Amino acid sequence: MENCSLSAWTLDDRREPRIRVGLVLPEDEMPEVSFVLPEGECRACGGGEEAKLAVKAGRVTAEGGRVRLVAGAARVGPAERIVLRRGTDVPLEAGAGIRLTSVVAGRGFHWQTRIEPCFVGDLEFLARDGRLVVVNELPVEDYLTGVISGEMSGECPLEFLKSQCVVARAWVLAHTEPKHPDLPIDRCNDDCCQRYQGTDDLTPTVLEAVRRTRGQVLLDPQGRLIDANYSKSCGGIIEAPEHVWGVAKPGQRAAPDAPQGSSARRFFPLTEDRLDEYLTGAWLADTDVFCSPTVVPERDLKRYLGRVDDGGGHFRWRFEYRREELQDVLRRKLADRLEGGLDRLDGLAVLARGCSGRARRLRIDYRDDAGAARHLVLESEYAIRDALHEKFLYSSAFAVRVLGDPAGPPERFILTGAGWGHGAGLCQIGALGMALHGYTCEQIVRHYFEPAELRACY
Ligand SMILES: [Zn+2]
Ligand SMILES: [Zn+2]
Repeated sequence: MENCSLSAWTLDDRREPRIRVGLVLPEDEMPEVSFVLPEGECRACGGGEEAKLAVKAGRVTAEGGRVRLVAGAARVGPAERIVLRRGTDVPLEAGAGIRLTSVVAGRGFHWQTRIEPCFVGDLEFLARDGRLVVVNELPVEDYLTGVISGEMSGECPLEFLKSQCVVARAWVLAHTEPKHPDLPIDRCNDDCCQRYQGTDDLTPTVLEAVRRTRGQVLLDPQGRLIDANYSKSCGGIIEAPEHVWGVAKPGQRAAPDAPQGSSARRFFPLTEDRLDEYLTGAWLADTDVFCSPTVVPERDLKRYLGRVDDGGGHFRWRFEYRREELQDVLRRKLADRLEGGLDRLDGLAVLARGCSGRARRLRIDYRDDAGAARHLVLESEYAIRDALHEKFLYSSAFAVRVLGDPAGPPERFILTGAGWGHGAGLCQIGALGMALHGYTCEQIVRHYFEPAELRACY
């Protein structure tokens, strides 16, 4: 049966949809991209032309609203759309498919980098005002192999990779919010949607995890798809979706990320008076919290994390800023919101927190360029993380300490924090910790999503 498109897919279809993933977006400002072809026959078509490509490499260039492909003597376009595909189906394995030589990973986050991934399926090239758009269209199950090997490493245990696959599939099939309504894509390839880095990092365990969970999603008691989220490390408490996105999501729970009977349960829900103990207390030395370094040792974590992530799990972290440094960051990040200009930062005050301690509202007190006292309130964990770091702060679950002479302006700001990411839904490092300690995929997803039923929808 012909695959259907993801945008039109519903649970009743009972078949695997195809997905269109944006690999290069207009915001990447790439006028050109080079590709390397695999062995075997490849074809490019566009504007009514079709060319067999006899060479190993080529490039596609944006010219206004059109694209042109050149590969050796073969030329296609300028055309509004060019599709490049391998002539026969390629077996899905590490390094299979067509390689693009520069793709942004971690777009806009503190880990932004460029990678050269390979992709199976069709590659479609378009242009917007001289900037390339590259779309990879492929079946969802093939797409998921590139998600779970990109989000975390293919070296992770099978039960973790199965749970990551179920959650990634549930999220993408729920397709509740169109994140890129102006582009002809379902999802982008990056953390804004979910990370997808093609075939380079595929391992036999990744392929097995996708095959053994084929079509499996999470359903709530009414039989509806659970729109499942996940993030790297909750820091010890799974955050409630309403504190992250302002909306409740059925099937996602807020809870301690720890076994029944854990002493960490006393911190839930986290209140201001227990915050310091939660962040830095002696209990951390031998805690059984699933995402803590006592369950997943930092020295082992590097091989379990995705290729583009840095080495640490950031269960607990600390940033120290001189006032001038933090002022510079705020001026850059909030240039159009700091009325009167920021001359001097006077303080940061968290006005509201979620149940994991994540700041949801933050007041920034400052003197403007004319010396008047002013303040600005940031209204989401995302806005707070974006404003307080040159790239992006690990999480908004932090306490602020201000150092300096009480009679004068603050000298230093120390942020002591927990976790990495928004903290709602599945905690990836916590799920890894559970798998390392013998929990099955089903036990893992039911810990993070409750009440949830695991069922194959095709
Ligand atoms: Zn996106
Ligand atoms: Zn966790």
